[in-house]
Amino acid sequence: MKYILVTGGVISGIGKGIIASSVGTILKSCGLHVTAIKIDPYINIDAGTFSPYEHVVPHITDAIQEWVMRQAKVSVDDDGIEPEVCVIELGGTVGDIESMPFIEAFRQFQFKVKRENFCNIHVSLVPQPNSTGEQKTKPTQNSVRELRGLGLSPDLIVCRCSTPLDTAVKEKISMFCHVEPEQVICIHDVSSIYRVPLLLEDQGIVDYFCGRLNLLIEMRPRTML
Ligand code: ADP
Repeated sequence: MKYILVTGGVISGIGKGIIASSVGTILKSCGLHVTAIKIDPYINIDAGTFSPYEHVVPHITDAIQEWVMRQAKVSVDDDGIEPEVCVIELGGTVGDIESMPFIEAFRQFQFKVKRENFCNIHVSLVPQPNSTGEQKTKPTQNSVRELRGLGLSPDLIVCRCSTPLDTAVKEKISMFCHVEPEQVICIHDVSSIYRVPLLLEDQGIVDYFCGRLNLLIEMRPRTML
């Protein structure tokens, strides 16, 4: 099973859901069986009803990992075949206190399932304030630093921006976020979200996943235009 975790930085509502579903769509069109999990980080534990000898945190991270592995195996296609890829969207923004147990669970999980079976897409914002008209990389640098501080390294940094990223801005993000330029993906505001899979494909994410996750892909996505 290959797991692709989609996290978000800077602000909520940045388009993680669209990126997660677009990645799933692309991999499905490559002939893979793909499932998806959406995690909304809310935890409901009533500390008053459990024994003072119980400690929740290790149980929570273990339970999250077991639950993800169990759900990932559930077939979602008519043919009943077990999925090969599971795209997991972690709601909220990295650094939120409510998502910490989930981030920690995935930090441990990446070692449990091994490197070739787990990767992270971090969706971040590149604002372009009217005052200068410049595309600003600092929020992305900060959110990647925060993610790394929590033990997850982005394999792809998806930059949400109002207009396509300038090459120099892309290079700056690559340099300061410690990734190759190919790992910086630009998804600007589009008139229809159905264009997002095309933008991702144009920027080489199929080849990236093939290499990073050792995916065996027999067919390329159909041209969806
Ligand atoms: P999140 O999962 O981070 O909360 P969503 O994926 O739900 O964010 O997206 C938030 C809103 O932004 C949705 O209405 C979605 O249609 C819109 N959106 C996402 N990506 C784009 C894009 N590239 N261009 C235009 N609108 C987008």
